[in-house]
Amino acid sequence: MEKTETMYKKAMEIWEVPEEFYEAAAPMYREYEIRLAHEMEKAPAKEETICDLLTSWGEEDAERLLFESYQRNVLEKCEADGKDGVWYKMTDFYGRYPFFAQFEPEAYAKYSQETVDRLNAWDLEVYMKYVSQAALDIAAGKDVPMHQTQYLTLEESDAMLDTLGEEFLVVPCNCKAMGRCTEKPVDVCVGKLQKGPNSFYDRKLGKVVSAAEAKELVHWANKKGLMQSGEHEWLCNCDGVHCYPTKMARILKTRLRYPTSHYEILWDPKVCIQCGKCTRICNHGAFYKDAQGNVVYDEEKCWGCTICASNCPKGAITLKKR
Ligand code: SF4
Ligand code: SF4
Ligand code: SF4
Repeated sequence: MEKTETMYKKAMEIWEVPEEFYEAAAPMYREYEIRLAHEMEKAPAKEETICDLLTSWGEEDAERLLFESYQRNVLEKCEADGKDGVWYKMTDFYGRYPFFAQFEPEAYAKYSQETVDRLNAWDLEVYMKYVSQAALDIAAGKDVPMHQTQYLTLEESDAMLDTLGEEFLVVPCNCKAMGRCTEKPVDVCVGKLQKGPNSFYDRKLGKVVSAAEAKELVHWANKKGLMQSGEHEWLCNCDGVHCYPTKMARILKTRLRYPTSHYEILWDPKVCIQCGKCTRICNHGAFYKDAQGNVVYDEEKCWGCTICASNCPKGAITLKKR
C-alpha cells in the first residue's frame, strides 16, 4: 500500500494532530487507517462500506481490521441521520492518544521522555480547554456535570459502588498510563459496567469484575496511596502526580473546592507514634518530616482526600465533617 508524504500529512490533518506531533503520532496509526482517513474524512461510513474498501485494497480480514481500529479508538461508532446499520467515523488524535498509552504500553514505552512530556503538556492544555470552566463552577458551588468532583472516604466509595449495580469494569487509568507511572498501581479505574456503543466493554477492553471485587480493588488502592474520587459512574483511584483533574486543580488553585473535600483532618500528636506512614502516603506533602525527622502536618497543603486517616495504624488522624 502506497503511503506518500502528502497522504500522511492529510490524514494527520483529518485526525487533528498538532504538526509538532506528526512523527510521534505515526506509530499510533496503521497504513490502512491512513487510507481510510482519506476516504472517510470526518463523515460517517457504514460498516459494510468500510469492509468493502479494505477488501478492495487487498486486506484479507477486513472485519477484524475494522474491529481493531474501533477497539484502538481510531474509529468510533456513530449515528448517520437515523439510517440503519452500524456506522463509524474517525476519532481525533485527542481521542486516540490515551487509548494508545493505556492499551499499547509496550509501544508507548519506546517514546523518549521528552516526547511524552510534550504530548502530555499538549493533552493537559486540550483537557483544560474542555473542562476547566466546569471545574471552576464546581469550585464555586454550582451543580454542573463534571468528573472527579469530590473525594470519597472508603465507606463512601463502598456506598457509591453499592448504587451502581453488580458488575463493574476495570481499565487502566489513562492519566497514569499517559504519564508512564511506575510508582503507583495503574489498573485502577473502576466504572459501572456499560455495554453500549463506544464503551470499553463494546470494544472488548478492560476486565469485568463483581461488586465485591471492585470494593476489594478500591480498598487495596487506598492502601497503596491512591485517593478515591468520583460520582455517577466512575470511581477513580488517583495519584497526585499524573492525575489530570489534580493537575488542573493545582493550576486553577481550587484546593478543597474542586475536587470538593468533605472532611477536615484532625491530627493528634499525642496519639501519633511517628511511624511516618502518613508522610509516605500523602500525595500533597501535607504530612512530612521536618529537619529533625519529626512528623509535621501542614493544614495549608492538605486537599482533604482522607487517605491518611484510613491508613494511620494508631488512629491518630481522624475526620471532621466540613
Ligand atoms: S482521574 Fe484519576 S483514576 Fe481517573 S484516569 Fe485520572 S488519575 Fe486515573
Ligand atoms: S501514620 Fe499515624 S501514627 Fe504514623 S506518623 Fe502518621 S499520624 Fe503518626
Ligand atoms: S493530609 Fe490531606 S491531602 Fe494528605 S493524605 Fe491526608 S487528607 Fe489527603
